[in-house]
Amino acid sequence: MDRKLVRKGILFVLVGPTGCGKSTFCSRLVNEFPDTVQYSTSATTRPPRPGEVQGKSYHFMSREEFESRRAAGEFFESEETHGYLYGTLRSSLENGINAGKDLLFQIDIRGALNFKRSFPNNTVTLFIIPPTFDDLKGRLKGRGTVDPEELQRRFATARDEYEALLKLNGDPGKIDYLVVNSELEQAYQSVKAIVLAERSRYLRIDRVSVEQFCDVTG
Ligand code: ADP
Ligand code: 5GP
Repeated sequence: MDRKLVRKGILFVLVGPTGCGKSTFCSRLVNEFPDTVQYSTSATTRPPRPGEVQGKSYHFMSREEFESRRAAGEFFESEETHGYLYGTLRSSLENGINAGKDLLFQIDIRGALNFKRSFPNNTVTLFIIPPTFDDLKGRLKGRGTVDPEELQRRFATARDEYEALLKLNGDPGKIDYLVVNSELEQAYQSVKAIVLAERSRYLRIDRVSVEQFCDVTG
């Protein structure tokens, strides 16, 4: 008989200041595990950056559309950051869960804690942190896709996120992992190791599929 462990999908939530490497890690995971990992595209009222694709990078929409869809209950969670609205559509969440895949989210720390509250056993939170704030500035400038004023707003948000992170220190069930993104390859290997290890957690494995492995008759 073909034995296979069946498990529940995991919601991997990547948090950290803009420029810390969240998109880079998500793209690499989706490329490396196309059959088992899916990116959950958020909605936002922020205008697209050059190179961003509607429906792939984000579901870009006007504030009016966002607010009316939020009022209609279409969002699982939403937050305002840097003066723009961002949120996870229930449909993105459901599509991924129904596809039986692990889902990747890039959201802010408040959104991540919402996921932890709603799906405590299925959510894994990773805070990605650059080695220094100067490195973060350099990488954001290198990416060259935000204007100087917006850059300042993002640095202010980064400071808030660090403060929130420090407050959660030692608080179980909130931020599960902290990954320093110094050398990219090394950091990616850490993220990948977390994904692989979390997939083996007994808690999420279906009992019937375990019983097949515990069958001592054959
Ligand atoms: P985020 O999605 O968190 O905003 P990105 O993944 O877009 O961040 O990364 C921001 C920029 O930093 C990108 O240009 C990316 O290529 C670069 N970058 C990411 N990780 C590293 C690293 N370890 N070393 C140098 N540059 C990096
Ligand atoms: P950016 O404009 O750089 O793409 O994203 C800005 C911030 O919004 C980041 O901290 C990002 O994680 C957060 N964000 C993106 N999508 C969502 C979402 O669906 N929900 C929440 N709460 N935050 C999000």
